[in-house]
Amino acid sequence: MYCKRCYAPLTVAEAPRCPNCQRLFDPTKPKTFLQRPFPSAGKIVIQIFGTTIVGIAAAYLVALHQAVRHSGH
Ligand SMILES: [Zn+2]
Repeated sequence: MYCKRCYAPLTVAEAPRCPNCQRLFDPTKPKTFLQRPFPSAGKIVIQIFGTTIVGIAAAYLVALHQAVRHSGH
């Protein structure tokens, strides 16, 4: 079993809580944890997409900031 949030291995012996990020899970409910330490394909796409948008937004803001500085006095 692996954490759905951080993919850390989960042990049922301890409290039903991720030892890494403290996310709660239910050993009797497969939907609350992962069988394998991999995110689902959809989640990977969302993460890549989100990272790309954040990167573009950051680059745009930096470019905008520099343009404002150069066009100033
Ligand atoms: Zn976790």
